Amino acid sequence: MIFRNPAGAPELACDQCGCRWFDRMSGSCYECGMPVSPQAQREYREALAAFAAARQAAAQERTGPATAP
Ligand SMILES: [Zn+2]
Repeated sequence: MIFRNPAGAPELACDQCGCRWFDRMSGSCYECGMPVSPQAQREYREALAAFAAARQAAAQERTGPATAP
């Protein structure tokens, strides 16, 4: 499952126990050892990419093109 942290960034969490600690080397949960499904990993990467794109767009909107007088 995928959580959102207070900043709005996605965080991958274990489907079994809900913890967010993953062993990235083995791709499994630290708490219960449940492997992260390829689908969950894909969803997480997509959520992360969407978040990065949204944040970049927001940053560009904030600074804007240099049209100020
Ligand atoms: Zn777990």
